[in-house]
Amino acid sequence: MSRLKENYLYSRVFIPEFLSFGLIIILITLILSDSFIKFFIILTLIIIFFIRLIDSVGRKRKTQIRIIQKAIDDIRNNMFSSPDEIKLGKQLFELESDIKSMFLKTQNDIANLKKLEQVRTEFLGNVSHELRTPIFAIQGYLETLLEGAIDDNRVNKIFLSKAFHHTNNLNNLLHDLIDISMIESGQMRMSFRYFNMKDFIDPIVQDFALLAEEKHIGMILHEIRPKLEVFGDKTRIKQVLTNLISNAIKYTEQGKVEIMVLDEGKFCRIIVRDSGIGISEKDLGRIFERFYRVDKDRSRSVGGTGLGLAIVKHIIEAHNSRIDVKSSPGFGSEFSFLLKK
Ligand code: ADP
Repeated sequence: MSRLKENYLYSRVFIPEFLSFGLIIILITLILSDSFIKFFIILTLIIIFFIRLIDSVGRKRKTQIRIIQKAIDDIRNNMFSSPDEIKLGKQLFELESDIKSMFLKTQNDIANLKKLEQVRTEFLGNVSHELRTPIFAIQGYLETLLEGAIDDNRVNKIFLSKAFHHTNNLNNLLHDLIDISMIESGQMRMSFRYFNMKDFIDPIVQDFALLAEEKHIGMILHEIRPKLEVFGDKTRIKQVLTNLISNAIKYTEQGKVEIMVLDEGKFCRIIVRDSGIGISEKDLGRIFERFYRVDKDRSRSVGGTGLGLAIVKHIIEAHNSRIDVKSSPGFGSEFSFLLKK
């Protein structure tokens, strides 16, 4: 393709402007010129001028479009490691900053996708590991029973109850996994309404009384103002409290578990405090992560999944609140959160 034709192709978007401008000049010339020869010469000059103009505009556009195309190709081929390396020149400086921010956004998106992929792989690894542990244990006990231990009255019931304990662990894990996946896929629907705090908490604490008694742990529910109404999803808040109280009992060997509801202006603070093993400073920041446990074996032996606090955190955040924790190893822990009154 000839250079002139190529430049014409690049400048053809301006043809309507060129034509209207040219037509005006030809009309003015026609009006002002007094002879046909003069008009013809001027017309020829105007045509030559327009051909040069079209060529020059086309050339400039072509250069700019090529610069942009090269930058896009270089971005596509990962030639840049930072946005500062993208240069489009003075005339395209506005576009340059747009392309730079687009490049930065794409880089961030890619980094987030990679992180997400890593989290997903880690999560799948954790899930398989968590499933494998109880399944192997159940298989082991059943195999031993089948190989003859079933007739040994000293161990058969013990092995069966251990296998049963692990089926419970599997069941807990399944429930927590369903909750986590519902939360993360945004399918956990919340149903907010006002409910009476005292009527709500009394039966929950009652449900744990026996468990606490078996461990010789005191269970104290402090006085709650009878008319206190709070706003939230009752079922989900019950799940939170059940989790916190069950953890408090699980991780306490002696002493007591206290449940308190304090008035704090427009909010009320719900506190679950125990005198248990406590949590060290270094673990405190991580206990809300999925599958994080301070002591894996201990958690498993008491039926823990390592997902409970992650679910609690999600639910409390869905109430526009925050779960707080204070703890001192050897002295106990205190979990609390605010609910709107
Ligand atoms: P799990 O099912 O293992 O209890 P959670 O997510 O509920 O999982 O808790 C995460 C970890 O936080 C537990 O494994 C335990 O180490 C620690 N933890 C939670 N609550 C308490 C508590 N009241 N006292 C001491 N440690 C606790």
